[in-house]
Amino acid sequence: MPTTQIVYDCSVAAAILRDGGLVAFPTETVYGLGADATNQAAIQRLFLAKGRPSDNPLIVHLAAVRDWRMAASELTESAKQLLAAFSPGPLTTVLPKSPKIVSSVTGGLNTVGIRIPFAPLALELIAATNLPIAAPSANLSGRPSCTTWQAVLEDLDGRIDAVLAGPPCGIGLESSVVDCTSQHPILLRAGGISLTQLQQVIAEARALPTTSDAAGIGLASPGLRHPHYQPTARVILVGEDALAELPQQPSPAESAYCGLTPPPDDSTLAYIQLYPSVEDYARGYYEFLRETDRRHLRTAFVELVSPTEIGGALRDRQQRSAAREL
Ligand code: AMP
Ligand code: MG
Repeated sequence: MPTTQIVYDCSVAAAILRDGGLVAFPTETVYGLGADATNQAAIQRLFLAKGRPSDNPLIVHLAAVRDWRMAASELTESAKQLLAAFSPGPLTTVLPKSPKIVSSVTGGLNTVGIRIPFAPLALELIAATNLPIAAPSANLSGRPSCTTWQAVLEDLDGRIDAVLAGPPCGIGLESSVVDCTSQHPILLRAGGISLTQLQQVIAEARALPTTSDAAGIGLASPGLRHPHYQPTARVILVGEDALAELPQQPSPAESAYCGLTPPPDDSTLAYIQLYPSVEDYARGYYEFLRETDRRHLRTAFVELVSPTEIGGALRDRQQRSAAREL
């Protein structure tokens, strides 16, 4: 697979997917890397192209909630309620898996995450395939996700068949993953839909502890075990109240900073990215990390956000991009 085609037409992209190919496409969260979730060979190529650990399950994307039988064997009551409230959109519900989905998609789990994206191009593409489409984030495993098609090519050019070139992603962080297989929904990964929003629909919804309980997290959502969202630069988190001084670095001219508030001393920073709102910060965070790599910077100072609404998901990604060992 020497070069990756840039395509603008959903029907061309859908034909490649139907033939067992790999196509990156825009969604409202981040760019996804699609493959036919019923095709064993296509899924194998997808894991290989990303360098993704085989125990990290893929989310299956559908064009409409009514297509749930293409991926799941049961639509639980809680999933029904949450999907009615938040689909199409940045919500993944984990449900009992249908045998139609090949087992490598879910890393051998008997559950499957399904999502109906909101982005019109994603919906058009999936509908045109008439297939369940497995789509993890379209980046090399471990790297920051991609919010533009150009960023997808930086990681995956020559490793995938095509990228459907669309607009930059509006949310910029991945979907919320919610386990809907037991009595009450459990938020496994923070994302575009906050716990507060989930609780407005189902009051008993709760979140999995975010840090330290590694064993529990590993069991519930295998993907959370692996390193994620990391640029080459070392990410150093700067607490909301601790902006008076940036931590000392050997070569500040090779450092970058991003945040809502300006750094205390910007004279030595090579690259500064400020955001007017937490939504803009979430939308731009992965692109900031990727830009530090393009500029070959060694350190990225990242102002932590408080964990409310989309800030909860952004803070989770900030912490993961700074964690060298999990
Ligand atoms: P990505 O596609 O790169 O955004 O990662 C998908 C995320 O969804 C990972 O954190 C997975 O662990 C999680 N996920 C997908 N399917 C399941 C499932 N069946 N059970 C639990 N977590 C899942
Ligand atoms: Mg990912």
